[in-house]
Amino acid sequence: NPGLYIVATPIGNLQDVSARAETTLRSADLILAEDSRVTSKLLNHLGIRKPVAAYHDHNAEKVRPGLVAQMADKAIALVSDAGTPLISDPGYKLVRDARAEGHMVTSIPGPCAAIAALTLAGLPTDRFLFAGFLPAKAKARDDAIAELGAVRATLVFYESGPRLGKSLAALAQGLGEREAAVAREISKTFEETVTDTLGALAARYAETPPKGEIVIVIAPPGEAAAASDTEIDAALADALERLP
Ligand code: SAM
Repeated sequence: NPGLYIVATPIGNLQDVSARAETTLRSADLILAEDSRVTSKLLNHLGIRKPVAAYHDHNAEKVRPGLVAQMADKAIALVSDAGTPLISDPGYKLVRDARAEGHMVTSIPGPCAAIAALTLAGLPTDRFLFAGFLPAKAKARDDAIAELGAVRATLVFYESGPRLGKSLAALAQGLGEREAAVAREISKTFEETVTDTLGALAARYAETPPKGEIVIVIAPPGEAAAASDTEIDAALADALERLP
């Protein structure tokens, strides 16, 4: 059927492509990819030969109207280099405009590094805030961290190996000592998850930047740190009442 298909692809292990993702790509009229070289690896693996067009941050504005118009009679699949499109990847404006034109929009869910990392960290998952990549510049990065300090939720960041040490140091500085996890190369040969306090993780990765793709998961602020004045007053009153 014509419309827009948001297709999640593997984040490393090609076996993670779902049966429905495969069927959808096989029957699509056009596949939109961030980088056609990356996507052709997956398509070759599946033995799929379909027209692939580029849809990335640098051409999206220009090509979007034409693509949306084509959705009236074509099945168009959007993929990204890895994982779920739109998650720290292009696509939300394409979905928005496709909807505005009344086209069918559907999602073929699958791998997502943020969700996989949450399942590995052993930290609370009932409330989490996905913060994507921290800004590259120190001032903007520290401001972003300060803004997240009071959020009572597990925090999830995407990161690259070379930047990991500096980011962890800034996070330890800005958020204080919290339990955290560094999940690396999920679903690949050298998958590894290291859990420790932020400070200890910062020290560990300060010298030797690890290789590969990384997700940082950080515990919510501790109960003591997050207690409000009212909660502290109530606890004090309670303690005073129990005093002999
Ligand atoms: N859309 C993707 C998703 O659904 O996870 C994320 C795209 S974002 C541009 C790329 C970042 O995702 C990497 O820098 C890394 O932080 C994270 N990532 C992707 N694959 C990963 C993997 N196999 N292991 C750990 N992190 C990964």
